[in-house]
Amino acid sequence: MLLKKKSTFGEKNGVSYLNGEVKFQGVSLNVHSYVVDGVLIDTGAQSLHKHFEAFIDEADFDQVMITHFHEDHTGCAAYVEKTKKLPIYLNEKTIDYCAQRADYPLYRQLFWGKRKPFHAQAMPETFTSRKATWDVIDTPGHAYDHKAFFNRETGQLFTGDLFVNERTKVVLAEESIPTIIHSLDRVLTYDFEEVFCHHAGFVKDGRAALERKRDYLVSIKQEVFALHKQGDSVEAIRDKLFPKKYPIIKFSSGEWDSLHIVTSILKGHIIHKS
Ligand SMILES: [Zn+2]
Repeated sequence: MLLKKKSTFGEKNGVSYLNGEVKFQGVSLNVHSYVVDGVLIDTGAQSLHKHFEAFIDEADFDQVMITHFHEDHTGCAAYVEKTKKLPIYLNEKTIDYCAQRADYPLYRQLFWGKRKPFHAQAMPETFTSRKATWDVIDTPGHAYDHKAFFNRETGQLFTGDLFVNERTKVVLAEESIPTIIHSLDRVLTYDFEEVFCHHAGFVKDGRAALERKRDYLVSIKQEVFALHKQGDSVEAIRDKLFPKKYPIIKFSSGEWDSLHIVTSILKGHIIHKS
């Protein structure tokens, strides 16, 4: 099995990061872990453990904040627990899930490895680091336990998987576009200056990028409703708005699909014609 792995270490405006990448049969995925002011934000993937463990060994931090339970963010949390004995904070909704062995589809185990169980504490609403106070912002939609972290001193915002890219074309079956729109609106009420995304990395003109994403999703929502009103099926709407078949759709047997964008928008609105 030819899985290509690499990582890039860097520093941006006081934030150090490791960006790990996995490539398999033309599908390439990446994930970041950040360290800022004694806080490790997300722990990378188990499949890239050599890279993330070296980063964790070298890093200077005294607490761990996890944006959400997905295995590319929690993959080396067990390593931190074992080697550093520092508190790990996670939304209380997924603490039990993460204390169990990995339980997700095989293609995800292939890309990201098997996350080992770890023991987290309930995420507070605010926390302090060495020089700053932070707000923990509820941002569900991509995952039901998703949190973003806002450093009040520096104006830096860590967005987990809330952003990823501006023009979302495929999402996970569990994602909800209307909920993501609400979460984007919520973070936009904070006075942040810089955005750090766990996949895209440092986002240039972060506020404008988050606004454009919100506006794009709102326009998709309007188009979906307009086509639905004309009588189009969810599949027909998907084919009109998202004609491209992305490799991840086949690879994931449809766990990732543009269809989930349409169905999450129409949830509770679908009128069944007989
Ligand atoms: Zn995720």
